[in-house]
Amino acid sequence: MNENTSFFTGALDLYIGSILKYFFFAGIPFLIFYVFFPNSFKNNKIQEGHHSKKSDFIREVYFSNQSLIISLFMTAPLLFTPVVKYTAFTFSFTHLKYVSVWWSPLILLVVFILHDTYFYWVHVLFHKPFFLKHFHIVHHKSHNPTSLSSLSFSYTEAIFQMFFNIIIVFLVPLDETIIIIFGIVAFICNSYGHLGYEIMPLGFRKSFLFPILVTSTHHNLHHSKTHYNFGLYFRFWDRLMKTEYPKYEELYDKIQARRMAKITS
Ligand SMILES: [Zn+2]
Ligand SMILES: [Zn+2]
Repeated sequence: MNENTSFFTGALDLYIGSILKYFFFAGIPFLIFYVFFPNSFKNNKIQEGHHSKKSDFIREVYFSNQSLIISLFMTAPLLFTPVVKYTAFTFSFTHLKYVSVWWSPLILLVVFILHDTYFYWVHVLFHKPFFLKHFHIVHHKSHNPTSLSSLSFSYTEAIFQMFFNIIIVFLVPLDETIIIIFGIVAFICNSYGHLGYEIMPLGFRKSFLFPILVTSTHHNLHHSKTHYNFGLYFRFWDRLMKTEYPKYEELYDKIQARRMAKITS
């Protein structure tokens, strides 16, 4: 793709890319954990004895794909029309507007921090009674989520969520490398957060990353307890705003102890 790519070609490429991303990072984990090998991961299951139904899976796929289409309608007009000249985005894999390409790793980190912050506060807003009842309820119909529910949002909420894309292309210098890496890593984190199974290596608990990063158990608690754990990638905001579920670490340790007992038996 480049600045001469037509609107329809660019939009079609974006759509195919996002469907592939959904298939690889949400569909394949779903097939592995829920269709082919659920018994192999029995000890990793976060909510034991609570099973989603086929109708839940269909709803999760339907709304996730609706969110992908909304994202397309919000992103394509920025990238494949003359508007792109006024953004901080450039069609290049090795060149950024305004700064050297060596800033890319730092920019990527900043994008994740900004996205986490944006997501946290929009999420808190969508837990206000009016927003929860009319919009966010779609996401919370998945009491025991699967990777398929990663983008399962009502269209109103999807517009709010995807608005981040618009903000970021005007605010932060980005090229295709940063956008592709961000898109893939963000999707993997989201899919893992909704997996319903804790698959973090046992050593993660003692690493310096444990107090920083959200785990699948962390976000699963958001679905089972509703008004805790609003963060997307990081625990910062939940800890700062005291919205983290008080027994999160206890539950995480319980699941890991169950896994450990299985490994050593
Ligand atoms: Zn929520
Ligand atoms: Zn969720």
